[in-house]
Amino acid sequence: MRRQRLGPMRVGVRAGGASGQGGRVRHAIPHITLRGGGSEASSGKVKPRREKTRPALGRWRRRPLVQGPRSGRSPPARAKLQRRASPASSRPVRAAPRRRPTKAARHGETAEAIAMPPARLPIAHIVNPRSVAVIGASEDVGKFGGRVIHYLIRHGYAGRLLPINPNRPAIRGLTAWPGIGAAPGPVDVAVLAVPAAHLLREIEACAAAGVGACIVITGKLADAGPEGAALEARLRAVAAAAGMRLVGPNCLGLFNVTDRAMLSSSLALEVERLKPGGIGMVSQSGALTGALVSLGHRHGAGFSRCISVGNQADLELCDFLDYLVEDPATRVITLYVEGLKDPARLAPLLRRARAAGKPVLCVKAGRSEAGAQAARSHTASLAGSHAAFAAVCRAAGAVLLDDPAIMVLAADMLDRQPPLPRPGMGVAVVASSGGSTVTTTDMLAGFGLRTARMGPATRAEMARWMPESHVHLPLDTGSFHDNTSEAALAGCLRAFMADPDIGAVLVPMTTQPAMARRAALLPPLAREGGRPLLYVMMAGEVGDAARAAMQAADFPYCDHVAQALAVLRALEAEAEGRDRHALPPPQRPPGAGPLAGPLPEGSGAGALTEAETKRLVAAYGLPVTREVLVATEAEAVAAAEAIGFPVVLKGVSRAVVHKSDLGLVRLGLGDAASVREAFAALQAAPVTLEGVLVQEMARGAAELILGARHEPGLGPLVLVGTGGVLVEVLRDVQLAPAPLRPEDAMAMLRRLGLWPVLEGVRGRPPLDAAAAAEALVRLSWLAADLGPRLVELDLNPLLLRADGQGCIAVDARATLQPADAGGAA
Ligand code: ADP
Ligand code: MG
Repeated sequence: MRRQRLGPMRVGVRAGGASGQGGRVRHAIPHITLRGGGSEASSGKVKPRREKTRPALGRWRRRPLVQGPRSGRSPPARAKLQRRASPASSRPVRAAPRRRPTKAARHGETAEAIAMPPARLPIAHIVNPRSVAVIGASEDVGKFGGRVIHYLIRHGYAGRLLPINPNRPAIRGLTAWPGIGAAPGPVDVAVLAVPAAHLLREIEACAAAGVGACIVITGKLADAGPEGAALEARLRAVAAAAGMRLVGPNCLGLFNVTDRAMLSSSLALEVERLKPGGIGMVSQSGALTGALVSLGHRHGAGFSRCISVGNQADLELCDFLDYLVEDPATRVITLYVEGLKDPARLAPLLRRARAAGKPVLCVKAGRSEAGAQAARSHTASLAGSHAAFAAVCRAAGAVLLDDPAIMVLAADMLDRQPPLPRPGMGVAVVASSGGSTVTTTDMLAGFGLRTARMGPATRAEMARWMPESHVHLPLDTGSFHDNTSEAALAGCLRAFMADPDIGAVLVPMTTQPAMARRAALLPPLAREGGRPLLYVMMAGEVGDAARAAMQAADFPYCDHVAQALAVLRALEAEAEGRDRHALPPPQRPPGAGPLAGPLPEGSGAGALTEAETKRLVAAYGLPVTREVLVATEAEAVAAAEAIGFPVVLKGVSRAVVHKSDLGLVRLGLGDAASVREAFAALQAAPVTLEGVLVQEMARGAAELILGARHEPGLGPLVLVGTGGVLVEVLRDVQLAPAPLRPEDAMAMLRRLGLWPVLEGVRGRPPLDAAAAAEALVRLSWLAADLGPRLVELDLNPLLLRADGQGCIAVDARATLQPADAGGAA
């Protein structure tokens, strides 16, 4: 069913705020359906929406609705246009007349009114425009402009369509207009697929004609170098001055599948019809959007709106994310991100999506580039900006993935199937061959998943259908007494869906008789069960009948076990995100700041010494070694005696990053003579020392690294991992935005490769993970308080002792931004 819109009279009423502001016209498009029970998107939930960031009143210039016919325009051609423009729903040709402000009115503007920015067309209206002009329209589908008009018509765009082409009277049976200025307005959206050389002229014409938004498909702008960037800046300025929005340039436009408005030249539209559904997509790659929509389409996935944002000259990814969070047609959001214009917008939007019950799945390009930066600290080299992005996404409840295809298939599962009830549950594999049962189970662990532990009810049900000896998971249906029994399969699946440890059922199907019939049994059982069921058709084309059965049942499927496991892993991450979102906000532990007064001495600028850094973290309650900074041998011996043997001596220099590489760390000094000897050796080192640090020799059972840094745009982050000198080699680290809750810190520790050691392996006692988590929480508050003043901070190692005996930082290093360069001090 198509969306209906209010008639012209209503429009006149809604737009009735037009007067009063110095003749400015209020942009109040009645772009919503409040009656008629149309599509889901219009089922009464839609409220008139205006961009929150802008005042509603302002100027969105429009040319008069009624315009004299262009010379040479024949009445039949006009009639045809009108027919096209007025689909069966007796939709108005146009909303209320919008007039240019009269000269007098313009001169009569108050200063306040002049200062007001022009009102801009809300994104919801750009995505669902009432009228679309295609500039560079053509009959030739080999051209961008030819495809845009072709796809608009083919997919059933029901608004007013205005081909713009100076050389033709008609295109695809529609009146063609020689320029946007000649076309009857108002025009909500113009799609531009013209050569870059003509772009500025066309954008100016659109601005002058009062077009609401331009979707600029043309590429080779900021993406092609400084000249293109300069042109892009001019386009942006022209559009901004007119209150006209821009999507792109260098994008593939957008698909509004819900309303059948395909404003795109993407070949993904070479299908009869895209299926409407709940998956929304915002992507910085147009071609990837096309591939993903097409992949989803093949799997029977349904989309709501897919937007390719291109160079983001004006509207950016976060603007569309914001729109999708509010969009009633969108139930799951997918993002392909290369770089954000304003990264600080992301986390709040992700949290809002969570609060709205919409999972967000995201692929961020550039992971392999991460860590390339030369860094003074371990934390900076281990926690590059990609890792920071991932950590921020995860903390805000989003699912970060590497593979865009998995993003779409997982989004489809979340759209058409129930989510995992909660994180950490097991998987029940159900297969019809020993080989697929065993190999699928073998692969589970590689995806961080496990076979479920069945409860007694499940066991009892299975025992009805198979010999007791075969009652276990994975289930091989070949061991049913009657292996063609549909009742046995149904009985077991029902039991699985009710088992408290079974979060999902995975059904890898191999070639067998009646594959399609067997496949068709699954969707109703899965729907009853309220748990995700992942169906994998492992066969090639002989499996197509089974795939078609799934399509017919409106049920997702995968083509490979690895694909299904990656999707399951994403569902697990989604459940973790849901859990995390439900937690209360972090609470500052007693004694963890806030920072009061000036930072510790010596921390005014740049690199801090070990002792200075330790004082800073000790002020937040982190345990550090007892130590004394000395200048002479006699002082060193006195300090060692006061601390108690054995001690450690370290040469102090801000210029040195790794002390032990230069022989500046002398461990295990058991008496005064060894202290003297070590002191002399440090004096001989090839660096100028500020002094010598005498500290207690601490003991621990494992070495952790704790770190913190501030990522511009994303904020403070903390890191924990396997510490010691091999940190960069092992790269066993977890990152999260600060501040943390104790639960977050424990979850980070559990995700480490080192975790089994912390739990106690091979007869070794468990270690004090709670103490490590607390140290991490305290450090996170320091990072949060320092804000942009914190460049980087490492505690490596933090020695972790047996359970109940705590931990202690034996080394520390930090770099702070000078107070005047930072902001938070
Ligand atoms: P750097 O990392 O600059 O080379 P550290 O101060 O971390 O220097 O010392 C190197 C190693 O020596 C540490 O990883 C740790 O294993 C050990 N170490 C350093 N200080 C102590 C200490 N006070 N107690 C026990 N071991 C220590
Ligand atoms: Mg160290």
